[in-house]
Amino acid sequence: MIEDSIYQKLRSHLGYLHLSATALALSSELDYAKEKNLSHTAFLERLLGIEVEAAIGRRQIILENIAALPAPWRLSDFDFDAQPSIDKKMVNELSTLRFLEDATNVMFIGPPGVGKTMLAIGLARASIDAGYRTYYTTAADLVAKCHKAALEGKWSSVMRNYATPKLLIIDEMGYLPLASEAAAALFQVITTRYLKSSTILTTNLSVGAWGKIFDDPMVAAAMLDRLLHRSVVFNIEGESYRMRSHRERYERLVGKGGDKKNLTTYSSNKPISPNHSTEEFQ
Ligand code: ADP
Ligand code: MG
Repeated sequence: MIEDSIYQKLRSHLGYLHLSATALALSSELDYAKEKNLSHTAFLERLLGIEVEAAIGRRQIILENIAALPAPWRLSDFDFDAQPSIDKKMVNELSTLRFLEDATNVMFIGPPGVGKTMLAIGLARASIDAGYRTYYTTAADLVAKCHKAALEGKWSSVMRNYATPKLLIIDEMGYLPLASEAAAALFQVITTRYLKSSTILTTNLSVGAWGKIFDDPMVAAAMLDRLLHRSVVFNIEGESYRMRSHRERYERLVGKGGDKKNLTTYSSNKPISPNHSTEEFQ
């Protein structure tokens, strides 16, 4: 049958072109086209649409794997009522990802548990969903990878990994003091991305206390200069979300005025000022 041989040829073309999703859908799409009396154009559009969807899906999986996000959080999971010091409107604006267009940086500053990582990951997730190359790292991991790369002579390839993503998240800056080699690595990453691509940074240290992370206050100043030049900064106040739910559970159990002597709560409602002592947030 001529039809049969054309069909076989078509299958083999699809195989040669690696259009596997189309090949898989071909038979049922042909039946559908016949049943609905589709035009050639409409049929072809449906068929290629299937391949495009599959390609987008494959790319999303690759982007997810590259990004290596440590949690599945989304911005929609964030409870803004629990954290009134966060400007929800600004977070919503960031979620449009327009900030990626002009390489704006975002800094989340605040004590532990207030949702810095969650917001950073939520934005990273939005960036992946929009098809942007995104990469998550902790500051400690970045520094360790750079150190290893320097020893193995792979410095430039590791730097490329940090330079190429449209959005880089550097989480947990400031928990550990950085030796000069580590500070230099971080400085290079920030400098390479400066005015080209956005970086989201989370830190427990107020801007004024950054000198304490680095041996050299000049490096701290130069890095901040680049980060803050075009940036959105959130100073998050308040108590840890975990501690808050822990406290609420406790209060449900014992009543609001109950005996709290066994309850450890972390609470710091003081605003973070540039002169704020670092120890309070560690
Ligand atoms: P940080 O990075 O500031 O130390 P995280 O983002 O890791 O804090 O948040 C600590 C925990 O509390 C996480 O499990 C996170 O999902 C949760 N959390 C913090 N803030 C909120 C919030 N506003 N809404 C929902 N969950 C939150
Ligand atoms: Mg965190």
